[in-house]
Amino acid sequence: MVVECHVCNINVDAIEHGSYRVDNPLEPLEGEIYKFLKCPKCKKPILTVQNPEFFADQIHLGTPRLLFPTGDFHLNPTIPEQLRKSLQESIQCYRGGANTATAIMCRRTIEGFCSLKDVKSGNLAESIKKLKETGIINKQLFEWANQLRLLGNEAAHNIDSTFTSTDARDILDFTIAILDFSYSFKQKFDDFIERRKNINNR
Ligand SMILES: [Zn+2]
Repeated sequence: MVVECHVCNINVDAIEHGSYRVDNPLEPLEGEIYKFLKCPKCKKPILTVQNPEFFADQIHLGTPRLLFPTGDFHLNPTIPEQLRKSLQESIQCYRGGANTATAIMCRRTIEGFCSLKDVKSGNLAESIKKLKETGIINKQLFEWANQLRLLGNEAAHNIDSTFTSTDARDILDFTIAILDFSYSFKQKFDDFIERRKNINNR
C-alpha cells in the first residue's frame, strides 16, 4: 500500500504486517480497517486506518489516513509569533523536500530568536555566544545553536553542500527544542522555583 513515510518524507510502498477491521453493528457497510505497515526504506512502523466507501455498487477502501507517525510538529504557543511563523515556514520547506532551504530557514529562526532576546551583535556567532553569557541558553543549547548556525551557513553559501531529509528533520527538531526550552520549559522551571521558594518562606 502506498503511504507517506514521515521519516523518509516520501511516498513508499509499505509492507503490510497485519490488519483488522472494526465493524459498526448498526451500519454493516461502515467500519474501519486498521493496518500495521513497515516502511521498506527506513523499516520504521506505520499505522493507518481506512473507511470502506460504497460507490458503483461496490465497496472500496478509502484513502488511508496516517495514525502513526503523524509527522506533526508541536509548536508551543508560548513561542513568540514571529518565531512560530519562521518555524512554520521551515516545516513547509521540510515537508516539500527542500532540505537545504530548511537549514537556511532554521538559521534565520535562530537569528530571529537572538534579535527578540536583544542580543544583536555584529554576527550570529557573537550573538549566540551572548545568549549563553547572559544565561538565556545553557551550554548544551549553545552547542546546538552554534551547530545550526554553521549548517545554515553551509546551506546558504556552499553550492556543493547536500542535506538529506534526516539532516533537515534533525536541524528542525533542534531548532524547535531550543525555542521550546527557552520559552516554555525555562519559564515553567523559573515559576516552579519561585513557587517553592514562597512555600518554604511561609
Ligand atoms: Zn521510511
